[in-house]
Amino acid sequence: MTTRLDPSGSGSARSARTANAGRPALEALLPEARAALPDVVALRRRLHENPELGLLLPDTQKAVLDALAPLDLELHTGGSTSAIVATLRGARPGGTLLLRADMDALPMPEHTGLPFASRYEDRMHACGHDAHVAMLVGAAGLLARRRDELAGTVKLLFQPGEEGHGGARILVEDEGLLAVTPAVDAAFAIHVDSTLPPGRIALRPGPMLASADVLSIDLHGRGGHASMPHHAVDPIPVACEIVLALQSFVTRRIDAFDPVVITITRLSGGTTTNVIPAAANLLGTIRSTSERARTAAHEGIRRVAAGIGAAHEVDVKVHILPGYPVTVNDAPFIDFTRGVAAELLGERAVVDLPKPIMGAEDFSYVLQQVPGAIVFLGARPPGEHAEPLHSSSMTIDEEALATGVALHAAMALRWLAAHETAG
Ligand SMILES: [Zn+2]
Ligand SMILES: [Zn+2]
Repeated sequence: MTTRLDPSGSGSARSARTANAGRPALEALLPEARAALPDVVALRRRLHENPELGLLLPDTQKAVLDALAPLDLELHTGGSTSAIVATLRGARPGGTLLLRADMDALPMPEHTGLPFASRYEDRMHACGHDAHVAMLVGAAGLLARRRDELAGTVKLLFQPGEEGHGGARILVEDEGLLAVTPAVDAAFAIHVDSTLPPGRIALRPGPMLASADVLSIDLHGRGGHASMPHHAVDPIPVACEIVLALQSFVTRRIDAFDPVVITITRLSGGTTTNVIPAAANLLGTIRSTSERARTAAHEGIRRVAAGIGAAHEVDVKVHILPGYPVTVNDAPFIDFTRGVAAELLGERAVVDLPKPIMGAEDFSYVLQQVPGAIVFLGARPPGEHAEPLHSSSMTIDEEALATGVALHAAMALRWLAAHETAG
């Protein structure tokens, strides 16, 4: 064992080798990912042209199964959705890492003018899930080639229904996806970002994305003639008062360093100019980045709305439909990810996000059960202006997908190497 400085340099070379024992080399991954890019881009474009919505995505599922077919993986489809789990078992025993790509598109028109734009007027892959699928299929190729070096199992999850359908919740809570033998020990996902420089990885420990709950408030008064409001109980000014009071509530009663966003997005009631309606309704969204703030917001909304209703004798009913929980990245897993990404891509490619994003992700349901992380991959297209995700003009730099392919593979190689078990 040579641990002292050796003037010939051979000792330090030897100790470097020792330090790297069990740490698979990552250098080959980016060139291999770039070589795979034509296939990755072709699959991404095929999906982009044929976007599907919700939990049942038969064409997408078929495209993924076709692309995975030559790789000799164990393929499981089904349950109540179009999910696919592709299992790659290594040669030796070890832990199980889940890599996840969501597959669904959004119900909106596309205005990119791309030659492979959506063939539907009302559907678009505007959140980059087409790219997620293609990157994970690409990574499957890189990993399958290294099967003999792997200790443990990689499960590749192709998940439908992220955009508001709770696909991950169904798979995790209703269908027990993570408990299927071999049970998942940790999970990793990549989300593209069309405004971040290409190839950049953005991450943070702790809250990464917000919870998103739907708020609906029903107001019932008594209708009447618009000229004689004292004979009626008018719900309209009460609804307006609640909208404003909720904003005061947020700024006065919620910790500014544990923020909440309450946005009322629709105010409805009434039919014409001379009739006071009997009822009105408010719709909106509640975002937070901690369960504590989320609970405080729910309680406060109920209290403020009920209090204002009582003051004006309008019956107020608050309905809060819980949506995706806060997406929380495991801190040690983020340290691990930061190290792998920096080694693969260089230190400068990895940036720590100073604060969470107020969007929401159903990967949160996976991260409630097992440690892991979701990170952003920059895929900003060339040029001055970049459209954000969910814009009908959103485009990405497809070259950046090679980075995602290599990062998925690097994470699996290194995580499995760190969790090899004797056997
Ligand atoms: Zn989205
Ligand atoms: Zn998304």
